[in-house]
Amino acid sequence: MSSPFALGEALAARAREGLLRTRQSGNGGAGTRLQVAGRDYLNFSSNDYLGLAGHPALALAFKEGLDRYGAGSGASPLVTGYSHAHQALEEQIADWLGLEAVLLFNCGFSANQAVLKALLGKEHLLWQDRLNHASLQEAGSLLPCTMKRFGHNDMAQLAAQLEPGRGLIVSEGVFSMDGDQGPWSELARLAEQSRNWLMIDDAHGLGVLGAEGRGTLHEQGVAAWRVQIQMGTFGKALGVAGAFVGGSRELVDYMVNFARPYVYSTHMPAAQAHAVLRAVELVRGGSESRERLRQLIGRFREGGRQLGWSLGMSATPIQPLLVGASEAATRLSSRLREEGIWVSAIRPPTVPQGKARLRITLSAAHSEQQIDKLLDTLGEAKSHV
Ligand SMILES: *Cc1c(COP(=O)(O)O)cnc(C)c1O
Repeated sequence: MSSPFALGEALAARAREGLLRTRQSGNGGAGTRLQVAGRDYLNFSSNDYLGLAGHPALALAFKEGLDRYGAGSGASPLVTGYSHAHQALEEQIADWLGLEAVLLFNCGFSANQAVLKALLGKEHLLWQDRLNHASLQEAGSLLPCTMKRFGHNDMAQLAAQLEPGRGLIVSEGVFSMDGDQGPWSELARLAEQSRNWLMIDDAHGLGVLGAEGRGTLHEQGVAAWRVQIQMGTFGKALGVAGAFVGGSRELVDYMVNFARPYVYSTHMPAAQAHAVLRAVELVRGGSESRERLRQLIGRFREGGRQLGWSLGMSATPIQPLLVGASEAATRLSSRLREEGIWVSAIRPPTVPQGKARLRITLSAAHSEQQIDKLLDTLGEAKSHV
């Protein structure tokens, strides 16, 4: 039967370009080992930077939350879904990051879309770093506002694009595919000079950077009040799932009234909020894990350099190994897989053409031996790419 949607053609085109995406189910991916199709792999692909996803204290907190609140929140937050656990988590995050108020979302993707959609009308401008996350790019292109994208971390280009008092500049703390950081002092200066608002998506900086894991702004010594909208997620270093948007009390009150993905969506389970509450405590007290992670990053970069691989400018647990062609990245990833190491090849359209790479992510839960095994295997694979 004919269909108005050419699904098969689109899939076939992707396959011809060698870009067809498929999934493989595994044992869940918490910890440094991954079981897929009956085989055991060393996992260098998760965003579980502090090793919290499989931490017994978090599982315990989740169970405690289930006993106390049940499995589901029962409704959207403005109906009856907003529990004491949600409120406690909002207050704890506000205290942690020095924000006036915080609002919880089921995931970062919808949090980003919710904020941009609630704020930006057709009279507004939105300036985005070219490498911002898909959730931000997509919202920007679907909204009636005018979107301008500046080159990655290109402050001169941004300065040239800015118009006074017209809208919002959005960038990331730590870029998800490159592991480098946005220049936040400079972003804040440009936003202030031009009387525009500034938003940070710190999905990958939160928990990893700064004292108590407060994230990129703290790492770079930029005061929280200089960035009007702060977004972070609970599915990466915090080891659970969900997200928040924080800033002034007025911003949060506005979101409660105008952010439709917040108003019309069943709230995250209170048990989950309870588990995230514990995760924030673990992250704040986790300076040893952060120190350990720093050491492992140094070990990996030193080893990778010696092998002659092209690494990015990253000082974070996201370590891109630049390969270039999509096929080469896929080949390298398959080769590692044969050796029992799980690393994802990241190809266009996720990254620009010719910038295919392995995205290696390190965790405080990795051992030195596991890093060395990765390096040994990368050394052996070098001649085959
Ligand atoms: C992962 C990620 C998101 C989406 O967060 P989820 O909670 O996984 O939906 C948003 N922004 C960035 C930069 C991310 O890396």
